[in-house]
Amino acid sequence: MSLLVVGSVAFDAIETPFGKVDRTLGGAASYFALAASYFAPVRVVAIVGEDFTEKERAVFRNRRIDLTGVERVAGKSFFWAGRYSQNLNERTTLATELNVFANFRPTLPDVYCDSSFIFLGNIDPTLQRSVLSQVKCKPKVVGLDTMNYWIERTPAELRDTLKHTQILMINDDETRQLTGEHNLLRAAKHVFKMGPRTLVIKRGEHGALMVHDKFIFSVPGFPLEEVHDPTGAGDSFAGGFMGYLAKAGRVNEQTLRSAMVYGSVLGSFAVERFGVERLTTLKLAEITRRARLFSKLTSFKL
Ligand code: AMP
Repeated sequence: MSLLVVGSVAFDAIETPFGKVDRTLGGAASYFALAASYFAPVRVVAIVGEDFTEKERAVFRNRRIDLTGVERVAGKSFFWAGRYSQNLNERTTLATELNVFANFRPTLPDVYCDSSFIFLGNIDPTLQRSVLSQVKCKPKVVGLDTMNYWIERTPAELRDTLKHTQILMINDDETRQLTGEHNLLRAAKHVFKMGPRTLVIKRGEHGALMVHDKFIFSVPGFPLEEVHDPTGAGDSFAGGFMGYLAKAGRVNEQTLRSAMVYGSVLGSFAVERFGVERLTTLKLAEITRRARLFSKLTSFKL
């Protein structure tokens, strides 16, 4: 089934205790698309500048990733720079340069308008809404990511977009900020009143928690000996999660539980190398093997 993502395609400068890169392909939509493409064809809606060349385009080639909806305009692409603390648990944003992203008005190519699985990446909620309104057939599921910036500055617009969303995928701080509730289970009840019936709380190395109005499910973060770069873990999680749902073609308790595991698997691979590199060398067999290890990791007898 067709999966559409809107979000940033960017250049990132990243510094971690394991090294430093001055300029590498990044952006939430890049991580999402690469991760999701292991499961289903992905359509990307984004904007890039003239610095997005054949070299960057080639990263997405020969995968099930359609870049027809990536508009290339005069100017520079979105640029983000970040530095991680020694234990990788804290991230300082050193620069956010919107560049061509500042004038992004997403327009869906006609061929995208029948997309049945939609992921609204972390951008202005008004733009997220505008993408949704261009999808002609009623989508099977709409997932959404957001961040503190939009929760603080555009709360009304975010609420409006959330009314049309079934799955909200954010981290624990964002959950607390959005709902004003510290306890995550109680926070989920606030979220249900806003529209989504499923809240996926991403908790970095601690895994992810899914609170549905009928059940709760939790996955650990896959234990890794070496994490080189946590950038894009959340977006890769979202890609694995939504990609799996699109492949399954239906959303129910069983597919949502499996989607959590595949989200966690893709997130864990993404952090093994800098930028999107690991997502480009990954093999389907490695994904399957790690999903099995997840099953072993969490299995026990009562
Ligand atoms: P994550 O580590 O999952 O938060 O994702 C990091 C990615 O999001 C990087 O590749 C950045 O280019 C991109 N990014 C950072 N800040 C923003 C922002 N304000 N809006 C959209 N994308 C962003």
